This record gives sequence, structure tokens and C-alpha cells, in this order.
Amino acid sequence: MSNILRSKCAVVGDCTVGKSALIQMFLSDGRNFLKNYNMTCGVELNIKSITIPDTSATVELFLYDSSGRDLYLESLPKYWNEPNMVFAVYDVTSEASFNSVNRWVSMVRDYVPIRGASSAPGVLFANKIDLLERRSVSPKAGAALAEKLGLHYFEGSAKEYSGVEEPFFLLSYEWHKLLTEKRKQFNLIG
Ligand code: GDP
Ligand code: MG
Repeated sequence: MSNILRSKCAVVGDCTVGKSALIQMFLSDGRNFLKNYNMTCGVELNIKSITIPDTSATVELFLYDSSGRDLYLESLPKYWNEPNMVFAVYDVTSEASFNSVNRWVSMVRDYVPIRGASSAPGVLFANKIDLLERRSVSPKAGAALAEKLGLHYFEGSAKEYSGVEEPFFLLSYEWHKLLTEKRKQFNLIG
């Protein structure tokens, strides 16, 4: 019996950190890098199905590519419609984008429906590591922030399609695990 689990993932971070590029590369298996900056207006929804190995389950990831512009800030939660997970992105060449992470993550967590929202699966992604010489935020600082916020730390480059899939897979596996445990608690499955 197939078992489709849907999860709503808010992808957030300052403008131009590479949220849309990451999502488009993930959706196209590395074929579609957005070279030019195209401003995201409001929220754009993208969907990708992830099969969970050794199970009959598929996680349908609803990726809400959210604009980092202040103009849209107030309307974002309405589009997310009770998110289940957070995917926060910063650009390793921009300390400002790193400093905004806290604010973005708390904003999403305020709208996670379950109590104890800090347990919602979440990822911190340090993007643009291909820009070696311009890097100003160290892996150590990134990992420390992730730990403080209870997020899984990943780094990579949308441009080079390195490290892009792993965080999305991890979120899907965690979601599957969380729901399976919850169902067991309620005795809905074996
Ligand atoms: P968003 O505003 O967060 O959605 O950012 P975009 O995805 O639109 O990307 C902003 C700009 O950064 C674009 O010109 C992208 O081509 C560029 N970009 C995105 N990811 C990377 C990356 O990993 N490395 C480099 N060098 N540029 C990137
Ligand atoms: Mg965008």
C-alpha cells in the first residue's frame, strides 16, 4: 500500500542568498541553475516527491520559496498555511544574511501548528561556498548557530549543485519518522 505523506516546508532567508536557485536545482536534479536574479514575489510553491528507502512511503515536499523582501513579510505566513518544517538559507559571503537567520527561523516557528514547535524538523543551509575567496562566515560559526537553533547544518552551492539534495532528503526522512512514531502512539498502524 502506498503511503503519501505531505509536508509543508517554508524556505526562508534574506534576498539573494539563493533560495530560488537551490529549489530549482533540486527540482531539476541539477540541470536548471538560475544565473540571473529574478526577484521572487510573495511565495512560490514547488512540489517534489521523495521516496523513503526500504518503506512504501513517499514524502511529498511542498517547498514554499518565500520572498526575502520586507514588502511581503506580513503576508508570508498566510501562504505557508501552517508550515511543518523550516529551511533557512544564508549566503556565506554575507554576514548580514547570516545575522538574519534567527529572525527568519523564529518567524516560521511562530506558525508551526504543533505545540513545541522547536521540535519541527529544520535545516540551516550555508549557500554559495563556491565563492571561496569571498567567504566571510566560517563553517564553525554556521554549525554553532544551527546547534543553538536546533537545526541541522549543511553547506553547499546551488551553482555547482553540491550538497543540495542532502538537506531535503534529511527533512523528508525526519518527517516520515515523526509521523510514523505519532501514528504508532495512536495505534493507527502496527
Ligand atoms: P533568492 O532571492 O534567495 O531566491 O536568491 P536567488 O536564488 O534568486 O539567487 C540570487 C543570485 O545568487 C542569483 O544571481 C543566483 O545566480 C546567485 N546564486 C544562487 N546560488 C548561488 C551559488 O551557490 N553560488 C553562486 N556563486 N551564486 C549563486
Ligand atoms: Mg527567490
